[in-house]
Amino acid sequence: MRAQASVLHLDLDAFFASVEQRDKPSLRGKPVVVGGVGGRGVVSTASYEARVFGVHSAMSTREARSRCPHAAFLTGRFHAYREASGVVMGLLRAVSPLVEPLSLDEAFVDLERADLPDLETPTVTAFAQRLRREVSAATGGLTASVGLGTSKFIAKVASDLDKPDGLTVVAPGTEQELLRPMKATVIPGVGPATAERLRRAGIVTVADLEAVSAEELVRIVGRSHGTGLWHLARALDDRPVVAEREAKSVSVEGTYDTDLTDRRLMEGLLTRQAGEVAARLVKHGLSGRTITIKVRLHDFTTVNRSSTLPSPTDTAGTIARVARSLLGDLLASADLSGGVRLLGVGVSGLADWVQEDLFGGTDAEPEPEVPVDLPTMRRRETWPPGLDVEHDEMGRGWVWGSGRGVVTVRFETAETPAGPVRSYAADDPQLHAWLPPEPADPADPADPAEPVGPAARDTVTDADGSTDVAAQSAADSTGDDGEVGEVGEVGEVGEVGEDTGDDAGGLSAPPDAPGPRA
Ligand SMILES: [Mg+2]
Repeated sequence: MRAQASVLHLDLDAFFASVEQRDKPSLRGKPVVVGGVGGRGVVSTASYEARVFGVHSAMSTREARSRCPHAAFLTGRFHAYREASGVVMGLLRAVSPLVEPLSLDEAFVDLERADLPDLETPTVTAFAQRLRREVSAATGGLTASVGLGTSKFIAKVASDLDKPDGLTVVAPGTEQELLRPMKATVIPGVGPATAERLRRAGIVTVADLEAVSAEELVRIVGRSHGTGLWHLARALDDRPVVAEREAKSVSVEGTYDTDLTDRRLMEGLLTRQAGEVAARLVKHGLSGRTITIKVRLHDFTTVNRSSTLPSPTDTAGTIARVARSLLGDLLASADLSGGVRLLGVGVSGLADWVQEDLFGGTDAEPEPEVPVDLPTMRRRETWPPGLDVEHDEMGRGWVWGSGRGVVTVRFETAETPAGPVRSYAADDPQLHAWLPPEPADPADPADPAEPVGPAARDTVTDADGSTDVAAQSAADSTGDDGEVGEVGEVGEVGEVGEDTGDDAGGLSAPPDAPGPRA
């Protein structure tokens, strides 16, 4: 715990939903729910207008639809979220070299390393207000809530106190006063299971927790948890702000217009991505022990699987072999029949040296190129609601709903007023999914990532590149376990979607326009 409130926590408000409202003018001021739109989808983010109706993160989309049937239910557009996140993280990094992102929409900033005249409360308060205005100006109006405190724990608690669009500074010395009346679940790591164990011991608030001895706490919640809880209940938190943690990996991922179901095709794509990852590792003289695959399902949930080798590798064959075996594990344990829309391979736990490859002998044998049969990726056109599209004559817009062979599009962007709605046949050759221009690879501008094909788009993350590694879980900032869900956490399994057939879902009720023509 520091003597001054020099840890800042910034949290963009209802991030995914706010980006959607920014880019879809007709949805501004209206309930918007971003997440899985399929039968077993999960809400990732609800706009504040939808939260009024009791819709929140991690709730099933089915429940959300019943609570707020007039909301716009949209699938996620990660390219837009990544872009906005990059702008915000860039602003923060201009402030201090010590920026620790927790997810696309949240980060700690260490103001001890910022260029401020002093760290007294009035100074940091004025600075935070200025920063909030800059975030809004740079992102086309997204709002952020900011907390300032003497530790990461307090800063994070503080940013939540005046949401949305708020600022809370917890003056040094007032931390315990603030925490005591709060529920114990405010402490990072106290999820529902721990909270229930504490409740049975009569502990509900932080004040209750503070009254319990360290030995007693260890007895109730176990040794690994108990000591940390005892300290945090007293606002004792000395964890440093750690910069660039999320960039300690090299990864390649591809997003596909059509959902992949064919195992051989997925293996082929992973093998190709493994080759690209290996080439980048070699080029930067890096190697890593942990290999992770990232799979985003049709219903928007994201699943990561990883495996750690006994020694670091930079070899395409090894990375590919592990990636394919991880895919095999995933196929054995989860139902991917609804289709996969994103696949990626990453290597983390980086070291700047390579040991003898101890994993299954030498890689003298070149990895056979697995043919990637692109036509099979055109198996099924899907037009999930919210998707960016472009029509040859009408220009850019977004899928307002689809089903029974018809796609309804609203033609508008962040820069236009609310636009007109038109319907097209789902196979109309003039209608295309829209993706932003290929981002330049900052590490290697002369060597752009080779696109897998017309239906695919790869994004590349380098050790010294962008912040794409942050694995976005199914639920964006559910808040329940605070910092436990850290950037790049592996092994998170969202609910597995089922094939819902066509995309008859869409917007369940028109915001202010006629529905899709049947
Ligand atoms: Mg947020």
